[in-house]
Amino acid sequence: MEIHKNASSDKALPLGEGLGWVLKKNNEAFMNFLNLDYSYCTLPSKFYQLVKPTAFIKPELVFVNDGLLSELHISPKNHQEILALLLGNDSSFAQAYAGHQFGGFTKLGDGRAIVLGEYLTPLNQRFDIQLKGSGRTLYSRGGDGKATLRAMLREYLISEAMFHLKIPTSRSLAVAKTGDLVLRETDQEGAVVARIMKSHIRVGTFEYARQFGSTEDLQALTNYTIQRLYPEVLNEENPTLAFLKKVISAQIDLVVNWMRVGFIHGVMNTDNVAISGETFDYGPCAFMNAYHSETVFSSIDKNGRYAFGNQPNIIKWNMARFAESLLPILHSNLENALKLAQTCFNEFDQILAEKFYKMMLLKLGIEMQSQEGNILVNELLHLMENLKLDYTNTFLTLSNDMYEINSPMNEPEFQTWLEKWKKAIESSTSFEKARKLMTENNPAFIPRNHLVEEALESAVNGNFDLINQLLIVHRKPYNYQEDLKYFTTPPSEVFETRYATFCGT
Ligand code: AMP
Ligand code: MG
Repeated sequence: MEIHKNASSDKALPLGEGLGWVLKKNNEAFMNFLNLDYSYCTLPSKFYQLVKPTAFIKPELVFVNDGLLSELHISPKNHQEILALLLGNDSSFAQAYAGHQFGGFTKLGDGRAIVLGEYLTPLNQRFDIQLKGSGRTLYSRGGDGKATLRAMLREYLISEAMFHLKIPTSRSLAVAKTGDLVLRETDQEGAVVARIMKSHIRVGTFEYARQFGSTEDLQALTNYTIQRLYPEVLNEENPTLAFLKKVISAQIDLVVNWMRVGFIHGVMNTDNVAISGETFDYGPCAFMNAYHSETVFSSIDKNGRYAFGNQPNIIKWNMARFAESLLPILHSNLENALKLAQTCFNEFDQILAEKFYKMMLLKLGIEMQSQEGNILVNELLHLMENLKLDYTNTFLTLSNDMYEINSPMNEPEFQTWLEKWKKAIESSTSFEKARKLMTENNPAFIPRNHLVEEALESAVNGNFDLINQLLIVHRKPYNYQEDLKYFTTPPSEVFETRYATFCGT
């Protein structure tokens, strides 16, 4: 099936119709402060299941993101209304999807999450409001549908930090304890997080449509997603091809942005790759301390599939799965569809490398791209790996021009590199301009794994001091302050080698 230029006007339903009006009606009595919409429910019914929210024993609010609420112009009368939101409503739905998990294809779906609806800001920006940890759904398979307080606080903290690091991400609105006990290695307190995203449609949603739906279903999902996230491609000759290119570009930008701050997502399965280009599902993610491209912390990633330096390869692999899903609607002839899809990958490596080096050079204060610049970057990465230098602090030191006496940066090989770098700056820009670029591109504060774990451990034991402090520090990650030096200190080597993250259960 070929997509025509005017596909939007004759095929895609306008957002917000279909089953939506029924759901809205159900919702009226529930939340007077939220304008919820249900455009997703204009899709064929195989894409979602209506869900009755689970009743919790003794829900209790833990965090409310007042800053985000006011940014979104959501004005509850009081926090009790936010608690009501975290308990769900009768109009909630769970999304169907599939995905490649560690390379293997599986049918999935929201097994412990529900979408409450879509919130429209006064400027008509549309955000899903989703609850995670909200109980079982028809897609739960053997799972309990629950989430632990520790994991939901982790999601809240890291997603806020990512937002302030200027990385597209889901954001957390609030966290509540459910009053339930959740059985993991030990009994733990259960919790729900409410999060927002431009959309939770993922690569896995398209894989689901391709594997378990008709071509019409796939077309409907594509039309809907284009209209919601990339309406600008509707004017292109082949909107599906243009859409594929847009998503690939957004994902390349995202991974390069992660690498700028040393972020390791940890579980880049295709069901965790958002078509919107936002980071989401903060399960076993972590931030790299000492630079090494093979750094991996996730306890389930035994072969380093999702290691720091492998993220670009994986996003290419994931985008290939996305392209395969779109084949039946890229062109009416499969051979031609394959050729079109292939054109998106011919230059993938080159584009990624260009964006990567551009980003790394900006970290070094250099705006102009050149072969010599790329060599400078490679040499620095080698040095950081060999000297076990902290990724964040190396760039911070370079931009602040403050070298510690005992730092391996005083080693002769590093000093040689330093001279080269200074010459490169002199020949292309001024140190003043370079410093400005470096300050904008190099965070002083990343969530340090050891501090995150310490904060979470204290929080689940009732002491929120450190997590609150971290939330404040990570609101201004690019503003170095000497009195906050504690938050820039890497963990001990012992912590680092033993540290393992678990899949956010
Ligand atoms: P994740 O690794 O969190 O992205 O989840 C992968 C899949 O497993 C998704 O379909 C989730 O809904 C499902 N899942 C994860 N944890 C649970 C749970 N405790 N109960 C039910 N489903 C779950
Ligand atoms: Mg997921």
